[in-house]
Amino acid sequence: MKPYDVIVVGGGPAGLMASIAAAVAGANTLLVEKGNRLGRKLGISGGGRCNVTNAKPLPELMQNIPGNGRFLHSALHRFSNEDVRAFFEGLGIRLKEEDRGRVFPVTDKASTVVQALIDKVVDTGVEIWEDTPVTGLMAQEHCITGVTTRHRGAIPARAVVIATGGCSVPKTGSTGDAYPWARKLGHTIVEPYPTAVPLTSDAPFIRSGALQGLSLRNTSVSIMDERRKRLTTEYGDLLFTHFGLSGPVALRCSHYVSTALRKNPDAKLTAVVDGLPDLSLEALQQTLRQRKQTEPLRHLRNVLSDLLPDRLAHQVLDRSDVRGDAPMSETANAALETVAKTTKAFIVPITGTLPLAQATVTGGGISVKEIDPRTMASKLCHGLYFCGEVMDVHAHTGGYNITVAFSTGHLAGTSAAEYALAEASVTRA
Ligand SMILES: Cc1cc2nc3c(=O)[nH]c(=O)nc-3n(C[C@H](O)[C@H](O)[C@H](O)COP(=O)(O)OP(=O)(O)OC[C@H]3O[C@@H](n4cnc5c(N)ncnc54)[C@H](O)[C@@H]3O)c2cc1C
Repeated sequence: MKPYDVIVVGGGPAGLMASIAAAVAGANTLLVEKGNRLGRKLGISGGGRCNVTNAKPLPELMQNIPGNGRFLHSALHRFSNEDVRAFFEGLGIRLKEEDRGRVFPVTDKASTVVQALIDKVVDTGVEIWEDTPVTGLMAQEHCITGVTTRHRGAIPARAVVIATGGCSVPKTGSTGDAYPWARKLGHTIVEPYPTAVPLTSDAPFIRSGALQGLSLRNTSVSIMDERRKRLTTEYGDLLFTHFGLSGPVALRCSHYVSTALRKNPDAKLTAVVDGLPDLSLEALQQTLRQRKQTEPLRHLRNVLSDLLPDRLAHQVLDRSDVRGDAPMSETANAALETVAKTTKAFIVPITGTLPLAQATVTGGGISVKEIDPRTMASKLCHGLYFCGEVMDVHAHTGGYNITVAFSTGHLAGTSAAEYALAEASVTRA
């Protein structure tokens, strides 16, 4: 069988973009996908609306990539979020920007984006094999020679791009298949772990569901270790659940929780939630003192419930060890201060995160130390390239992971094509 110039393994956003880039660069390209549908995970991203990228300026965008963002510097400069937007607009897909820079198709349908990518793959002449699981890589003397597949045997190629994703939400096809293949060629695999995932807590008020379903808009959550060292402070919407904390701000915190627990599985972590983000501590203390003057006969519980959701007010009073059923006039100023402090720093003990299978994104993967950031090429095996979530890179949700997939996919596809075409000309000569 005549070798393909480039075989791209995996038809997610990284693999779709890699195969387009390789074909546009002139390579005879095959895209191999194990499932019966391309772009499955992309199709459920951003709540099914597909958060294609984020419009923030590049330096700010990179701050939203806590997992090896610096490694992506070259890739993001070669094919940036602006390039992602221009790419889709060039395909006739109109995009709109929403809060926090998130960019969606105006149709609000992920299928618009996925279909446009597939059409482009077809237009550029890429051959597509679906329902074809790749089972391994073929290499000779540190040079890639092709891939092996479950149903169609060995397929020779001059270059191979691995775009098989991580191992979260495995029903989408990302099941960590490429880790053992890369390990066999000498690559280090950073043990995968969950990121962009809800946090778990065994606090009695969580287990009892006392706050289940309660959401706080635009609040701050700090993650602290047992020495009261602040690991991060993140901002956004928070949701209390029956197992812990969810919502965008909890997902942003999860990177720091997972990282701390990987270093020390016994670490005692807490989340410090601001129960009333619109008022400073001083303003809240002042408000409570004023209300004591103007409404001396009202119970503290009722006054607090004017400011906070009822259920949270109840928990705050419980924690502060202050009676809520006493009139304001009989409540000491020191007690009001305690209540204000507890409201502004409501502590939730954190035991960990939901498991990897339920995570939005996989942390860990193929170590970036053995990948050239200028080309996405393996430093250990010629002709082998990586892109997307299979690598040890991850970002916060908000279109950043998808941008990373497109950006690294574009670079890996272009580099693989250049390598393969140079190899082909050497063979011909
Ligand atoms: C519910 C959900 C919501 C999300 N929302 C957002 C969001 O709002 N913003 C954001 O930035 N990110 C979001 N993400 C993350 C984002 O979707 C991923 O980071 C991105 O899809 C990764 O792209 P990828 O191409 O690297 O991998 P994937 O999209 O996982 O694609 C990998 C592909 O490789 C195929 N494959 C695997 N093994 C083999 C094999 N052996 N042979 C052949 N093919 C194989 C798989 O079937 C799959 O099609 C979300 C993820 C989920 C699960």
